Amino acid sequence: MNEQPSTFDPASMASDYLGEAATLLAHDDPFPDGAVVPPIYQTSLFTFANYADMADTFAGRRKQPIYSRGDNPTVMEFEARVATLEGAEAARGFSSGMAAISATVLAFVGAGERMVAVRNCYGDAYRLFERLFPRLHIKVDYVDGSDPDAVAAALPGAKLLYLESPTSMMFELQDLEHLTRLAKEQGIVTTIDNSWATPVFQKPISHGVDLVLHSASKYLGGHSDTVAGVVAGSAAHIKHINEQTYSQLGGKLSPFEGWLLLRGLRTLPLRLPHHMKSGLIIAERLKAHGKVERVNHPAYSNHPGKKTLAGYAGLFSFEVTEDVDIPAFVDALKYFRIGVSWGGHESLVVPAKASLEQTPGINSMARFGVSPRTIRFNVGLENVEDLWADIAQAFDKSKK
Ligand SMILES: *Cc1c(COP(=O)(O)O)cnc(C)c1O
Repeated sequence: MNEQPSTFDPASMASDYLGEAATLLAHDDPFPDGAVVPPIYQTSLFTFANYADMADTFAGRRKQPIYSRGDNPTVMEFEARVATLEGAEAARGFSSGMAAISATVLAFVGAGERMVAVRNCYGDAYRLFERLFPRLHIKVDYVDGSDPDAVAAALPGAKLLYLESPTSMMFELQDLEHLTRLAKEQGIVTTIDNSWATPVFQKPISHGVDLVLHSASKYLGGHSDTVAGVVAGSAAHIKHINEQTYSQLGGKLSPFEGWLLLRGLRTLPLRLPHHMKSGLIIAERLKAHGKVERVNHPAYSNHPGKKTLAGYAGLFSFEVTEDVDIPAFVDALKYFRIGVSWGGHESLVVPAKASLEQTPGINSMARFGVSPRTIRFNVGLENVEDLWADIAQAFDKSKK
C-alpha cells in the first residue's frame, strides 16, 4: 500500500544546526544598565532635543526613531536578529505574516502587472491574490513550483516570483537555485515564505532568493502567543518596501510582540531539532501504518528542492485510507488539539476535509485538488511516545 522509501534513521538526525547563530541568539551586548534583555520601548513617539535634531533626522542625516509606526528600538532588535539569521542586510517586522506578505508583494507589483505564485501557497496569501488583486488589476498565475519548466514558461513579463518551499498542506518542494536563476535572467524579484523551515533549516538568500518572508506567529515566536510577520532582504529592497508600503499600509509590529519574539527566538535552535526528530518518528510510524496511504513530508521527497533543506520542521500531512472516519479520528485525539496555526509548543491537527469548506470558490486546496483524506499534524514538544500512543488509539476509534 505504501511504497515511499525510508531514507533516514530519525534518531540520528537531530543535532546542532545553527552553529554560530545559536550563540548569536543567546548572547547580546548588554542593553542599558547592563540588562541582558532589551527594554520594551512602549512609546508611540520619540522627541527631539532641538529643531536641528528633528530637521537632520527627517532629512536622513541623523538616525533616531521618530514614531513607532516606522521604527521602534525593541522591534529593531528583532529585525536585526532576523536579518542576521537569514544572512540578509536588513529586515522589517510586521503585525502579522499576512501584513508582511501583502506589503512586500504590493511594493513590487502594481496595476496592469503580473506575478507568478506557486500553487498550494498559504491559504490567505491565495485569498489575497484572488480577492483583492483582481480589483487592483494585478494578475496572478499559479504554477507547479516543483516543475522548473512550468515556472520558466510562466515567468516572461512577470514582476515577481512568489515561492513557498515546502508548500502549505501538501509540502511540495521547489528548487530554489534553479528557479531564482530563471527569475534573475529576466530581472524578476523572488520572494519565499520560509515560515516552515526557518533560517535554522533553510537560508534562501544564500540560494539566490531576494526576499524572505515569515509568519513569525509560527516557529520564530514558537509559543503560540503572538501574531507577527517579518521580511528580510537587501537594504535596497527593504528600503523600497519601507517607502512604498510599510509605513503607509501601517501594519507595524508592536514593541511588546517584538520583545516576545526576541524571547522566542532564543530557543529556536533548541526547539527546531526537537520538532524535527519527533516529526520524523511520527511520520515513519504513520508511513508503516495500515490506515495511512501516503505521508506528505519533505523527508520522503526526491525533489532537488530538498538540497537546500538542512533539516525538517514538525509540520506535515498524510492521507488516510477510505475506511478511516476522519471526524471520529480527529475527535478521538487528546494531545493533538483541533486548531489552525502551528509552530508552537503544542501538537495540533487540521483535517483538510474541514478546511475545504472554508471560503468556497477561493479555496486553494479545492482548486489544486488536495484530497479530503489529507490530515495535517503540527508535532509539538510533548513526549513523542505519548503523541504516538494518542494517534494509535485514535485510529482504533476511527473505524467506519
Ligand atoms: C500562518 C502562515 C502565514 C500567515 O501568517 P500570519 O502571521 O497568520 O498572518 C503565512 N505563511 C504560512 C506558511 C503560514 O503558515
